[in-house]
Amino acid sequence: MLGLTRKLKSLFKKTGSDRQHAKSRSFDINTFNRIFIDPYFNSCNLRCLYCPVGQGLKLRDMSKGMMSLDLFEQIWAKSFAHYRGTIALYNWGESFLNPDLPGMVRHIKEHSSACLLLNSSFSFSFDDRLTEILKYLESDTIIISCDGFSQETCEKYRVNVDFNLVMHNIELINRNKKPQTQLHWQYLTFPWNLEEVKAAEQYCKEKGIGFYPGKGGITSDFSMLPVPRTSDRERFRCEFIFHSLSINFDGEIYPCCAYYGPQRYSLGNASKNSVQEIFSGGKGKETLDYLMFQSNGNDGIFCKHCVERNVGVLESWK
Ligand code: SF4
Ligand code: SF4
Repeated sequence: MLGLTRKLKSLFKKTGSDRQHAKSRSFDINTFNRIFIDPYFNSCNLRCLYCPVGQGLKLRDMSKGMMSLDLFEQIWAKSFAHYRGTIALYNWGESFLNPDLPGMVRHIKEHSSACLLLNSSFSFSFDDRLTEILKYLESDTIIISCDGFSQETCEKYRVNVDFNLVMHNIELINRNKKPQTQLHWQYLTFPWNLEEVKAAEQYCKEKGIGFYPGKGGITSDFSMLPVPRTSDRERFRCEFIFHSLSINFDGEIYPCCAYYGPQRYSLGNASKNSVQEIFSGGKGKETLDYLMFQSNGNDGIFCKHCVERNVGVLESWK
């Protein structure tokens, strides 16, 4: 993070000549060490208790939709040729339901050195889709989201989950993945699943799977998402944007993966302008300036509302 901080400070210095210089040169997309691209926003086969997608809520004013491979390739060509960070190919929905997911994975692996992060509940029967994706993955990471070690326990949170299918897919991944591809089991803990943590952990140990029990980001008060995060309050109002910049299924860019509307706070569209352009000027730059105490921001910047917890905006989300 320190390297990142220095890079950002050098892009947006306070003196007049430095400001001029920052304006005239292109922003480095590698400032963002992780970028989410959502292949299938607001659609899922599960109905998880605390997830607005699972609860079938209208996500503020955001439309639901699937990204096409064509749009994905346009976005990639505009911004990502030199990206070396991590692409998280999921966000607010079940990305494996998108039949173009293998094509997106192939495109990333053939056109960049970016690392891939995939995350799913793996409660689906897409053996061919999964096997094809595994062929392209190298030193990438797959996260299984599963919160129990039996159907009865798992479905208490992940409503509609088929635990046998999840286990079938885990075995399929473990059989077909390359040794350098990491497989992690993320186990959200609740009072009703604590007794099965040990069994899941033991299974992971036997299979060489990383096991990560803990509280998840989505809780019963999800209407308050997102929540600013920083490790350095002197320098940043929130630094989460550098780990979580988010591109929605339609190319709209939002400041972080926890954001799910309103749409009017989009920073720009990644199929029309490059990420570099959006953060060299316009709303992207305004947002970073605000988050780095270079300006007091304005009402068009969502992060300002998030940081200040503007009651009016929270009311309008409902
Ligand atoms: S699997 Fe993910 S997107 Fe689907 S309902 Fe559960 S938490 Fe939400
Ligand atoms: S919306 Fe902006 S301020 Fe809020 S958590 Fe995301 S990046 Fe931080």
